[in-house]
Amino acid sequence: MAAPPSVLHTGLPESLLSDPVAAIRGPGDLVRFYRELAGSAPLLVVTNREPVVWKGGAERFALPPGGVSQTIHRLLCQVGGRWIALRDSGGPDLLRIPGEPGAPGYRLDRLEVPSALMEGHYAGFSNGVLWPFFHDEEGRIGEPPNALAAYREVNRRVAGKVMDSLREGASGGIRPGMIWVHDYQLALVGQEMRRSGGALPPLAFFWHIPWSAPVGGAPPPRWLFEVVTGLLSYDQVGFQTELYRDRFLETVFSLYGSRASWDGETLSVATASGVRRLHPGVFPISVDPDHFRMMSRDPAGMLPALSLLSDCGLAPGTPSGGYLISVDRMDYSKGFLERLSLMEALYENDPSLAGRLALLQIAPPTRLSVEAYRRYAEEVERRSEALNRRFARGAWRPVVTLSRSLDPSLLAPLYRLSRGCLVTATRDGMNLVAKEFLASQDGGSAPLFLSRHTGTAMTMEGLSLIDPADPALSARIVAQGLSMDGRIRERKNRQALADLREHNVYRWMAENLLRPLSRTSKEGALLFARPS
Ligand code: UDP
Repeated sequence: MAAPPSVLHTGLPESLLSDPVAAIRGPGDLVRFYRELAGSAPLLVVTNREPVVWKGGAERFALPPGGVSQTIHRLLCQVGGRWIALRDSGGPDLLRIPGEPGAPGYRLDRLEVPSALMEGHYAGFSNGVLWPFFHDEEGRIGEPPNALAAYREVNRRVAGKVMDSLREGASGGIRPGMIWVHDYQLALVGQEMRRSGGALPPLAFFWHIPWSAPVGGAPPPRWLFEVVTGLLSYDQVGFQTELYRDRFLETVFSLYGSRASWDGETLSVATASGVRRLHPGVFPISVDPDHFRMMSRDPAGMLPALSLLSDCGLAPGTPSGGYLISVDRMDYSKGFLERLSLMEALYENDPSLAGRLALLQIAPPTRLSVEAYRRYAEEVERRSEALNRRFARGAWRPVVTLSRSLDPSLLAPLYRLSRGCLVTATRDGMNLVAKEFLASQDGGSAPLFLSRHTGTAMTMEGLSLIDPADPALSARIVAQGLSMDGRIRERKNRQALADLREHNVYRWMAENLLRPLSRTSKEGALLFARPS
């Protein structure tokens, strides 16, 4: 006899059962979805960085230009709740973030951590150890003394702040439908919360970066067991791709052996503090493609973009105005050096490109308190200058670098006006720039050349893939792509846009929320419960 369906309906609307998230296209759909699942229960979000930037004065604070945190911010404004983050600008410890008229808005609790502790947590363990380890850059690991202790302590303090929020009393406790913790800086928060005892709402976690495969035979780093065990404390741990989720499972099996089992849905592990059952899910993060599409043609961004290009000697429509664009924080995992090698091979193979096709790299500095980042930025500058000396034609330079952050309203027209986009990350959890570029094309034919080592390459079909580790081959793929019939390139871009519309950032959020929230939904529904 056929097995009974694995989805049981005990009270949720029919519309949420067939494919509960497939129809989600925008913020309004997401808010309705949330309300159907959680009723009036608020949401509690925990991140390392704040969703707002303190300005002071009459304006008080501003919202950063975009990205995933802004999507979560918009949902929280609509459904109400609380956001707990480590403070990274001035102002009061608590900010009330207003929603639009009629929407509840939310409260931002900003946790102050002494700077030495923060340094050990952020520059030391998070970005000196975890980031390079999970981006397969073990040679760049630099662990300052006490960095792991600082990481533990900051996670403990964040957990304490969350637990305070759950307690009713003077600080105004809340009863959230779920708690959603983000990223590698906060892996231990769930475990610390469980140590406090008592019933907790569902705990979800999203791991934004890649997960490395265990290296056969080599002893795992001493902290890995602790981080993995910390993650087992959540009820759901989301990954960007199936590959990263499967590697996480492999790591769990390599550390816990027969004490771990997985039935395709639920991972069960007998840990020292009891049996943990959790859902390791795959939720590829995305963008709002319609927003980028609109920004890419909006005169408000287009005019400054045109003037910026002229200032860079890349005025559109002029013989020397062609450019390939790249947009990356100055991070070694983004493959800046590999991209310069690719450009070098491109000019060597076809010297006529020098003077006609430049690389415009938008490269805001990042994590400058980490030594490996400072050294890398210097190396990129040296290599860019060498390439510029070698292939300069009069005032024209092959590499134009803007070492500052640009607003997405400016990035979108720059994507649109380019001859193509180069994404050369050597390892990347997803890569949103690739998706933003495709969305901004909207009928255009400029191709995306995408590193195969990105989550975007692993989760979208029909894209032109390159391998930054092989610049000669990648340069040939780029040259072929640029000379391909424009109708074929345009069609590829249209297909990619349709895919992004279906798998947009609102749907990503809904997929993350679905299972944990369904546990606390009005009727106590048990979505996905497996019949025993
Ligand atoms: N970004 C931006 N301005 C810049 C550079 C980057 O707004 O000058 C944004 C970019 O549009 C994208 C994000 O930063 O939304 C980078 O995301 P991605 O996944 O590509 O890389 P990450 O920095 O998260 O590793």
